[in-house]
Amino acid sequence: MLSLNDLKEKLANKQKIVITTHYKPDGDAMGSSLALYHWLINQGHDVKVIVPSDYPSFLFWMPGQNEVIVYPTHIEAADELINQADLIFCLDFNHLSRIHEMGHAVRESNALKVMIDHHLSPEGFDDIRHWDPKAAATAQLIYDFIVNHMHDRAGITDDIATSLYTGIMTDTGSFRFPSTTAQIHLIVADLITLGAQNWKIHEHVFNSSTENRLKFLGFCLLNRLEVIPEYNAAVFAIESKDLKQFNVTTGDTEGLVNYALSVSGIRLAALIIDRKERIKLSLRSIGDIPCNEICSRFFDGGGHKNAAGGHSQGTLEETVLKFKTILPEYKNLLTK
Ligand code: 5GP
Ligand code: MN
Repeated sequence: MLSLNDLKEKLANKQKIVITTHYKPDGDAMGSSLALYHWLINQGHDVKVIVPSDYPSFLFWMPGQNEVIVYPTHIEAADELINQADLIFCLDFNHLSRIHEMGHAVRESNALKVMIDHHLSPEGFDDIRHWDPKAAATAQLIYDFIVNHMHDRAGITDDIATSLYTGIMTDTGSFRFPSTTAQIHLIVADLITLGAQNWKIHEHVFNSSTENRLKFLGFCLLNRLEVIPEYNAAVFAIESKDLKQFNVTTGDTEGLVNYALSVSGIRLAALIIDRKERIKLSLRSIGDIPCNEICSRFFDGGGHKNAAGGHSQGTLEETVLKFKTILPEYKNLLTK
């Protein structure tokens, strides 16, 4: 394993660089990628961001997102870039399975792989890592990388500050999760000093719903939420015809699971969606209930203690039933 100092030496010369992040990139994935993109471009490198899938429209305003290559629509050109790269930065994930079809090209490439991430249990495909599972967001680690390891706080432009702010804001649930330490507030204050317009970023991300998305939310709250009081749990089960009826696009279901968690007393919330190709599951919890353990044991997934995801091959009904049958095993934690 090489060190960040080795990386710094490498970055002293012009490099061909690919930055990538996980499937269905969220605010942290895009914020981290675009922040690093702008910083590396400003250092004179040849840089491309390649993402393994589309991403939510509430991120379409982000500085530099027009330059992002979406892998499935440019496979040949992207494979060539990955193959020719000197360095590949893998941000906000630590298993190549999280970048789906792109994983093969990345694994095969001779580029040095740099992983910057805050999820548990790295697979170990990387040559250099800046990894801290206690970090609130990968964007926090990018800030730390630029400021404390590359010693270039002065190199944080408005666009970089904006991107980093977006990543930290979205991964901390607007600065309310336990990961929001005093240190996070100091970093965020510095990002505002450096040009992030906090109110504008909140406006872009949270006040950009379509009418359909809001009606979909209302529909789900009324018809698709089941509260299971004996286990302090709640579950949304969304059918594929619901997605069609409300013309749901990538990002429209983001945050939905938190409504289930906002019911007083609820400590575990699940959002189970029939996405046709497979059933996708998102879990959120409060306190010691280990969403990541539940997802890795039962739903072929993982994540953090209080936010994790996975999937299932069964039907929607079977997956909901499976979720419910797991609850007794966690009864002590759920009802503590
Ligand atoms: P979300 O529920 O928003 O899709 O994801 C919540 C967290 O769980 C994120 O940190 C994400 O990286 C992780 N996660 C979501 N889906 C999967 C999955 O299928 N596998 C793994 N290992 N992690 C996932
Ligand atoms: Mn993240």
